[in-house]
Amino acid sequence: MQSIDTYNFKGKKALIRVDFNVPLDDEYNITDDTRIKAALPTIEKILNDNGSVILMSHLGRPKGVEERFSLKHIVNHISKLTGRTVNFAEDCIGEKTCSMACDLKEGEILLLENLRFHPEEKKGDEEFAKKLADLADCWVNDAFGTAHRAHASTAIISKFFPNDKMFGYVINSELESVDKFINSSVQPVTAIMGGAKVSSKIGIIKNLMNKVDNIIIGGGMTFTFVKAMGGKIGNSLVEDDKLFEARELLKEAKEKGVNFIISVDALCGDKFDNNANTKTFSVHEIPEGWIGLDAGDESIKNFKNVIENSKTILWNGPVGVFEMPSFEKGTKEVAYSVAEATSNGVFTLIGGGDSVAAANQYGVADKVSYVSTGGGALLEYIEGKELPGIEAIRK
Ligand code: AMP
Repeated sequence: MQSIDTYNFKGKKALIRVDFNVPLDDEYNITDDTRIKAALPTIEKILNDNGSVILMSHLGRPKGVEERFSLKHIVNHISKLTGRTVNFAEDCIGEKTCSMACDLKEGEILLLENLRFHPEEKKGDEEFAKKLADLADCWVNDAFGTAHRAHASTAIISKFFPNDKMFGYVINSELESVDKFINSSVQPVTAIMGGAKVSSKIGIIKNLMNKVDNIIIGGGMTFTFVKAMGGKIGNSLVEDDKLFEARELLKEAKEKGVNFIISVDALCGDKFDNNANTKTFSVHEIPEGWIGLDAGDESIKNFKNVIENSKTILWNGPVGVFEMPSFEKGTKEVAYSVAEATSNGVFTLIGGGDSVAAANQYGVADKVSYVSTGGGALLEYIEGKELPGIEAIRK
């Protein structure tokens, strides 16, 4: 396997699959440029080695060509961050793009238009992948967020670079940190699982049972577990078609000796609204008309107690509707507690869109060991699935 640190980029054109799927406001200003900043070390390394860089990415979910999803909106910002001129190709393939790539000199950058303007990208079309591959001498995959997709630019393209493909620094550090968690033998290992639905987390919870000592269950998925145990959950979020699986998970945890820490009480609202009337109930005795929207104080105390006694921690998903200030306490306390553990030498990994947003909201993103950029990709990797974008380089 090639490494970005040892590959000779001199005089070569490197096609980098980046994740520049950044949020834009109505005037096309970038509201969070974290993903662009994350790719800078990879770009700089290649340019400083006297190579040239062709950047390709998707932006949003366009249906065909849609002006608002054009990557031209981010050209100036990339230019500002790199301190270099950024050329822009109005299509990611085609004659004009080919000649722009051909004319690219050492130290220069070319950004291609949104890959998803071509439906072939998501279909993993081989001919389309070949057209992209023809633009360059080597392929660098640095988009961890899309590594679980077998798209043309994230995986299929690899066959055209059998000896000239490698990970960029974003994927390298993601894998290093996630592997550190997965392979950690520093116990107790704890996974904090929150978020809305259990359906999207069953696979990962199942796989985590073979690795961790404690699984904290918070957020909306709590109530599917509670109902599965026979509790009354009022109008709380529930997935009735997952009750059997929830029961199976509880059984498996018992058999494997994994400590399942489910909320014991919930801060409930009489409507799904920040201004709702609130009351705390036992999670097993929530009256009709009330919705569990955050972990109650007793649950928060239990969560913190487990976190304080852990040596390796993964946090995925908020333990309440933290977007509403009235129901943010549980998530906020978990965030502080995970940061505190980190300062005591515990390895802490935060991953999954909403827990990352929460970590940012409570100012702890730089107080934990690692914040992963990959939502679905991270979960699938921890789940033990092969990610096409990773295997494409490794194989
Ligand atoms: P996920 O994408 O599955 O990680 O879910 C994240 C979302 O779960 C966040 O937007 C939270 O507001 C939501 N959430 C957390 N706790 C609850 C709850 N008790 N009821 C409904 N939604 C919740």
